[in-house]
Amino acid sequence: MSGTAAIDATHDPALASWVESANTDDGDFTIQNLPFGRFRSNANEDWRIGVAIGDQVLDLRLAGLIDHADMHRLMALPPAQRRALRAALSNGLQRGSAQESAWRSALRPMRSVELGLPCPIRNYTDFYVGIHHATAVGKLFRPDNPLLPNYKWVPIGYHGRASSIIPSGQPVRRPRGQVAGDPAPRLAATQRLDHELELGFLIGAGNALGEPITIDEAEQHLFGVTLFNDWSARDVQPWEYQPLGPFLAKNFASTVSPWIVTMEALAPFRASFAHPEGDPQPLPYLDGAANRAAGALDIQLEVRLQTAAMREAGLPPTIISRSNAAEAAYWTAAQLVAHHTVNGCNLQSGDLLGSGTLSGPRPGESGSMLELSAGGKQPITLPNGEQRTFLEDGDTLILAGHCERAGARRIGFGLCSGTVLPAA
Ligand code: MN
Repeated sequence: MSGTAAIDATHDPALASWVESANTDDGDFTIQNLPFGRFRSNANEDWRIGVAIGDQVLDLRLAGLIDHADMHRLMALPPAQRRALRAALSNGLQRGSAQESAWRSALRPMRSVELGLPCPIRNYTDFYVGIHHATAVGKLFRPDNPLLPNYKWVPIGYHGRASSIIPSGQPVRRPRGQVAGDPAPRLAATQRLDHELELGFLIGAGNALGEPITIDEAEQHLFGVTLFNDWSARDVQPWEYQPLGPFLAKNFASTVSPWIVTMEALAPFRASFAHPEGDPQPLPYLDGAANRAAGALDIQLEVRLQTAAMREAGLPPTIISRSNAAEAAYWTAAQLVAHHTVNGCNLQSGDLLGSGTLSGPRPGESGSMLELSAGGKQPITLPNGEQRTFLEDGDTLILAGHCERAGARRIGFGLCSGTVLPAA
């Protein structure tokens, strides 16, 4: 079996849940979604595996569906067992299910629990698939030649650091770093703190060292998708990164959303993939029928900002940009997996592949402040009159995402949120 997950009875838009909060029109955690995450009641407890349904979390062990709390083990299940688990969840949570009375006691209100990293992050690679982002950022450095010639041939990436990937809600301390200066560089708190609107692709079953994953097999190794904010220090970055890849400008924190939306849940929201007419076509190891037919992900993305002044005035976060993952990405998740392993590199359960910043082609679709403010030259104005070029202390940056299509029920990702603390 190859290709993308199939649409089945679990995607039926007519399905409703006995958890009534899952049945609203604008909710993220409908019964068609069933994303996995980890939660606990307090810091003294071990993490437990749960599924989000409406405003509740179903404890999978209490529901009798698993007998462990090892998310990597769950993620590495063969596709047939993943589908069986999804079918059991769908059956048990739907209206009229015989499980209702037993499973009611396995529910916890989401607001009453702590949500952690959805799985321990084993290894982290960040890609650069957002071609509009790459072009816009490239223009800041090379106005005449924004995209380097390899961009349209090879999915660009670098190895990041897993230790500083943090769960949504954990504050981010403004980092210090070495920045350019005259007559000499100096160590300073970054004045150009930025976010990056990304997706995080989580690996289910890994591959053995030396055995590449083909593009046709790649979807079977993907467990699901999260939102991912790759916080960046834009003044540290240009001074330190030439000619090396990203380092201290990137590895001080990256925030991941609490729920992994599975590849199965995303089945109704796949889109065809092609490079634009006239662009190089992918080399054979990055090309396949299933990838062309449905390799892309039709996910609506949104960035929201709430400053400390807005919070104090009781103002809600304001949307500062919107984009669509399928439109933003030059490479698909399957291509990233095939490329990452083509040299025999082994991926493991719980590895996170960041997509890169997913900016759209139009104004207002930029997934970073660097682009929104044209490299810090044009501040954006917020509804309360405040202006921003980069993020300031007390700012809360929130990523949101959802999928919506005719004939399918809406599913969403929850929020990926972090508040900036002053430098130490
Ligand atoms: Mn990034």
